[in-house]
Amino acid sequence: MLPWFSPVSQRFFNRLMERRLHHALLLAGPAGIGKGILARWLGKVLLCKQPVSDGACGQCQSCMLFEAETHPDYLQLMSEKQIGVDLIRDGIRKLSGTAQLGGNKVMVIFAADSLTESAANALLKTLEEPTGNTYILLITDKIQRLLPTILSRCEKQVFSVPESHLSLEWLKSQGVTNASVALLKAYGGAPLRLKGALEQQEGLSYQLFFERFTQLLCGQTDALELAREWQENAEQVVNWCQLYAHEQYIQHQQSEDQQRFSHCLEAKRVLQHPGVNKSVVLTGLLSLFA
Ligand SMILES: [Zn+2]
Repeated sequence: MLPWFSPVSQRFFNRLMERRLHHALLLAGPAGIGKGILARWLGKVLLCKQPVSDGACGQCQSCMLFEAETHPDYLQLMSEKQIGVDLIRDGIRKLSGTAQLGGNKVMVIFAADSLTESAANALLKTLEEPTGNTYILLITDKIQRLLPTILSRCEKQVFSVPESHLSLEWLKSQGVTNASVALLKAYGGAPLRLKGALEQQEGLSYQLFFERFTQLLCGQTDALELAREWQENAEQVVNWCQLYAHEQYIQHQQSEDQQRFSHCLEAKRVLQHPGVNKSVVLTGLLSLFA
């Protein structure tokens, strides 16, 4: 288990053993902290035939099927865009029968904030009156987008980003040796997001951004050139500029940095409009740093 989730996973486990685990759990918090890993861990424990002191046994038939991604009583719903009503109805139908292995049944819904309204409504009844031995785990990083009716029927676990020393230790154990507090901050303090970004070759890395951004600050390149270079990653660039302005302001309390910060917020808003010329938005923003 991810070290920052150890206390909560132990609590879940104890409650499960005492048969006091809520049948509908909502795991909420920032993206990239591993909520999905926690949900899968819990799903595996819920299905395990002979859980051991700290989780699933890893040996029983259920654990084997789970690891092979073929457990008949485990269902994972996710969608690239929205989770529609058909997907939910199909899931509920699969949950309504007797568990094929005679134990619990588990449905995990990733990005629960992407449920359409009719999908959410279809889910409500199951959340209210679940069939026996059924557990539904919902995951979201945008809890404010969930319908109040869904929220009120789940037990909510809201997580924040882990403490940086835990994240850095974990990253090191995963073979990521070049992580630092500053780099972690650049990825919102979310260790799995940072790991993903470092492993991914495409896209703009923070290191490259910072290298080029420093050149901009020293007048070795101009805003127009960087804006052209970065237009595909405009949102990310604005986030990093905002972080930079914020840190500068904290250090030096210059109104200039406050203005840059406000401009970042404005740029973020503008970038949400479809069809906006990202290069123009970035040129305007980056020229404030030149
Ligand atoms: Zn097992």
